[in-house]
Amino acid sequence: MVSRVIPVDNFDLVIFGGTGDLARRKILPGLYRRFCAGQMPEDARIIGAARSDMDAAGYRQMIKEAIAEFGGPGEQSAADIDGFLAHLEYIPIDARGQAGWSDLAAIMRKDVVKAFYFSVGPGLFGDLAERLHLHGIADSDSRIVVEKPFGHDLTSAKALNATLAQHFDEGQIYRIDHYLGKETVQNLMAVRFGNILFEPLWNAQYVDHIQITVAETVGVGGRGGYYDKSGAMRDMVQNHMMQLLCLIAMEPPNRFDPDAVRDEKLKVIRALDPVEQAQIVRGQYCGDEDGPGYLEDVEDPKSKTESFIALKVGISNWRWKGTPFYLRTGKRMRARTSEIAIVFKDPPHSIFGEQEDRRGNVLVIRLQPNEGINLRVTIKEPGPGGMRLVEVPLDMSFADALGPDAHDVPDAYERLIMDVIRGNQTLFMRGDEVEAAWAWTDPIIEGWQDRGDTPRPYDAGSSGPEDSLMLLHKDGRRWREVRT
Ligand code: NAD
Repeated sequence: MVSRVIPVDNFDLVIFGGTGDLARRKILPGLYRRFCAGQMPEDARIIGAARSDMDAAGYRQMIKEAIAEFGGPGEQSAADIDGFLAHLEYIPIDARGQAGWSDLAAIMRKDVVKAFYFSVGPGLFGDLAERLHLHGIADSDSRIVVEKPFGHDLTSAKALNATLAQHFDEGQIYRIDHYLGKETVQNLMAVRFGNILFEPLWNAQYVDHIQITVAETVGVGGRGGYYDKSGAMRDMVQNHMMQLLCLIAMEPPNRFDPDAVRDEKLKVIRALDPVEQAQIVRGQYCGDEDGPGYLEDVEDPKSKTESFIALKVGISNWRWKGTPFYLRTGKRMRARTSEIAIVFKDPPHSIFGEQEDRRGNVLVIRLQPNEGINLRVTIKEPGPGGMRLVEVPLDMSFADALGPDAHDVPDAYERLIMDVIRGNQTLFMRGDEVEAAWAWTDPIIEGWQDRGDTPRPYDAGSSGPEDSLMLLHKDGRRWREVRT
């Protein structure tokens, strides 16, 4: 199967913060891969704009090195790299001052798509938005791309939205949640809404519960200072896991278009029950021979920030009342894995009598590693000895099913940047969604702050604190194993 590359319009893409970590690790290598796939228009330009004083040649050299390091697997041909680097320009700029802005204004073209990637801290969003208008660089067709974290709580998210709204309409603002750019996450929608099989069962009557796990093996490492102000709830649950939950729980939108999809997601967030503190388990990893513990990583022996969280979430609507969503995410866990498991109920009556250790139908959507979808079904164990039942996977590994091209699917950032150029906001968060997510998150965080809640220690390389197992045990359920 040959993947199709759909051409995009000619563009000028300005990357503010174009020398930063995100630009070098994700944005530019992603654009390079789109160039190699033949998706970059001949005259498209990528303009790095950052504080460092360098010229276009210096920037091209910096990005050449970044591509060598982060460009992904496979041979990189010198011709491809040179061809891509020829699209790059660089303007030294001061987001807070005057330097560089008239130079940027002078090189921007009028008749192409203009997109501005704010790959800088959110403290600079307002300055950038204001100067883009002051210097007549952005117009009503321009697009801006902003990164997480989008606010620290509801108040700050509202303030950020208000700042951007002074200069840009909602239809021009692309809030990135790179989880939405993942191939499997979009496949979740294809599987749900492109087949008749699943949707009739996709409700509280047939689904026992849902588990969403995002486990990492790394600790907070060098990001300790930043992470400690955030924690797993803000860093993962409020955004990425919330988006996954929405895509599972939402009603079918009537069209696959930006507002139809985002309206449905917003309804889910607004229907989330407040979470009682007894339904939350927070943890901090301990040190071992492979690395320091959380408290040493963040250099604050009294830190109460969680590096792990598990919580039970209810949704008060007709479809989901009574079916819990269990979410858990953490660092320094046993394996690096992200998956969503839809655990169906048992058939109402077993004609085969009691069968030990049956676990029923489970649909697993694996985000990493080995992206794919796997449905566990019950069959008869082969051989004589009566009707003994076993569960076997009906495996839809994309790599196996779609052949070698399945490995070439664009990385989340590549896809999302191309969506910006196309002007398609479906996979981006709308301002009201982000605010609703914070409105649900804030009281949870305030709850444990009020109680002075201290996270439980957990062993590095484990599945998190023991209490997180209890969260499901007391409901007669159990977590799926954290493994690759
Ligand atoms: P970074 O510190 O590595 O880079 C910051 C960039 O901003 C540099 O290019 C710097 O020159 C530029 N900059 C800073 N002040 C400036 C000013 N006054 N005028 C002009 N340019 C200025 O940061 P990063 O890790 O690349 O992160 C950028 C943004 O993306 C942040 O908001 C971060 O939270 C977010 N983000 C980063 C990652 C990641 O993996 N690095 C992941 C998700 C979100």
